[in-house]
Amino acid sequence: MAALKIVFATRNEGKVREITQMLTSTGMELVSLNHFPSLPEIVEDGKTYLENALKKARIISQATGEIVLADDSGLEVAALGGEPGIHSARYAGEGASDEENNALLLSRLKGVPPSERNASFRCALVLFGTEGRYQTFEGRWDGLIIDEARGTNGFGYDPIFLWPEMNMTAAELPSEVKNTVSHRGRAFAELKNYLLTEKNKPGRSAVR
Ligand code: IMP
Repeated sequence: MAALKIVFATRNEGKVREITQMLTSTGMELVSLNHFPSLPEIVEDGKTYLENALKKARIISQATGEIVLADDSGLEVAALGGEPGIHSARYAGEGASDEENNALLLSRLKGVPPSERNASFRCALVLFGTEGRYQTFEGRWDGLIIDEARGTNGFGYDPIFLWPEMNMTAAELPSEVKNTVSHRGRAFAELKNYLLTEKNKPGRSAVR
């Protein structure tokens, strides 16, 4: 059977390769936005990860006529009322570096004891079909925020996000391990399950 083409709403080819690996055996072929030179600008102004992912997926599907997969994610710190949340990428301002975002987060957590530093990464995924129907998937990864950055893998808040189960930060974990336990890994595992189930139903396509 021919592979089903899905446009993944990112320009990051590394991300596409990583997700392609995760979705092996589903019969999907992921292509990045780099195959579509003129797409409308998308403002991520939703109040939730799901709203942002859905907005991206819908606009790109309408512009390309293709099935689209879009994700949105962030870090929520309980002691800060869920901050930085949907503002995770630009917590310390538009264009802020990972280091600046991490420094701001740690300064806001100054004096907060280890027992009150619970945090979770969240990820929402939307698979948007050409007929306007869509499916959503979510993943969550619980941990703690620590003061001293540890590890050099990953990105974003990884060096200050401790996974208590292994007593390692997300930046100390090998990427294969992070990809199976992380918020993103879990959301994509749900998607994979869904795709495999749908694939085995006669006469069905992924988002009909
Ligand atoms: P995006 O949804 O992939 O654009 O992620 C939004 C922001 O959330 C990133 O810029 C990071 O600051 C943060 N974030 C999301 N996932 C992770 C992760 O796995 N590790 C560290 N930071 C993350």
